[in-house]
Amino acid sequence: MKEARFYKKLPQAFVQCTACNRFCRIANNSTGFCRVRKNVNGTLYSLVYNKTLTLTADPIEKKPLFHFMPGTYCNSISTYGCNFSCPFCQNHDISQDFTEKDIEAVQETTPEQIVENTIERGLEGIAYTYVEPTVFIEYAIDTMKLAKKEKLYNVWVSNGYMSEQAIGKLAKYLDAANIDLKGDAKFYKKLCGNVNVELVKKSIQLLYKKRVHVEVTNLIVPGYNDNADQIREVASFVASIDKGMVLHFSRFFPHYKMLDTPVTPLTTLRQAYSIAKQQGLHHVYLGNVPEAQNTYCPKCGSLVIEREGYTVMLLALDKRGRCKHCGYDLGIKVRESQRTSI
Ligand code: SF4
Repeated sequence: MKEARFYKKLPQAFVQCTACNRFCRIANNSTGFCRVRKNVNGTLYSLVYNKTLTLTADPIEKKPLFHFMPGTYCNSISTYGCNFSCPFCQNHDISQDFTEKDIEAVQETTPEQIVENTIERGLEGIAYTYVEPTVFIEYAIDTMKLAKKEKLYNVWVSNGYMSEQAIGKLAKYLDAANIDLKGDAKFYKKLCGNVNVELVKKSIQLLYKKRVHVEVTNLIVPGYNDNADQIREVASFVASIDKGMVLHFSRFFPHYKMLDTPVTPLTTLRQAYSIAKQQGLHHVYLGNVPEAQNTYCPKCGSLVIEREGYTVMLLALDKRGRCKHCGYDLGIKVRESQRTSI
């Protein structure tokens, strides 16, 4: 156990965790909502420090991040725990279905070992992913600091519910983030465990202002967030920040506690794509379907990046992320010299 760095001590041996917007008040010998941050005699501990479950080489496109270091691979790390309780979670075996004993059984991997492992395997960066990285923020930040020294990139795949204080601390080590914007206020309240959508939106704005490369993902769940008004609300919010910000619409597959909900129809995804384009977004992609994968220059229409599965071809992109044909700045971050490929 490692003492947490995001919390306040309260009277009568209570503590308040300040890592995410739940701001859990935690009694002695209890854990917060995420079940991986525990109050022991008035001190808050992270139960998952040094406890990554994975060291998985993933294409950056899998996160998904399409405009950040295209074609590179990262080392994905993750612990147990999450601050949301979505009934459609793809990773519920590690986000929800675990005990303290399961955490204790995980072999320790230090931030130094993660960075060494990343370099040894020729990977370009580290992704903090699979569950919400805010719940292991101390472990993540210590790893991110070391990664930066080694010129590795850091990316978060996040639900965006970290506190403003947490963003303030992590943003300087964070290169990119894919943030889920799952739906409207009703969707978040009903399906994610009484979450305030406005605070998710605020995180997206804040990360963008702090110059973190941000892409947004909206998983379309039939019957819950698939009507045109809900989709328009997501797209217009993204467009209000920057019309060049990437928006991914992802196809839902029945999972976990939502086995009776159907797969998102292709027609719904295509409609979402059109709505987002009508809102003026330049870059809209579809996920979990083999279409709307390529990047086109919004100015001259050239095919800039072609994607087929995780095979990525940079056809007309210069080293500064501009269209080779017309010079338009697509805002795509490109690594100048790649490490050895895996
Ligand atoms: S990180 Fe966990 S303990 Fe802390 S406020 Fe969020 S849910 Fe609560």
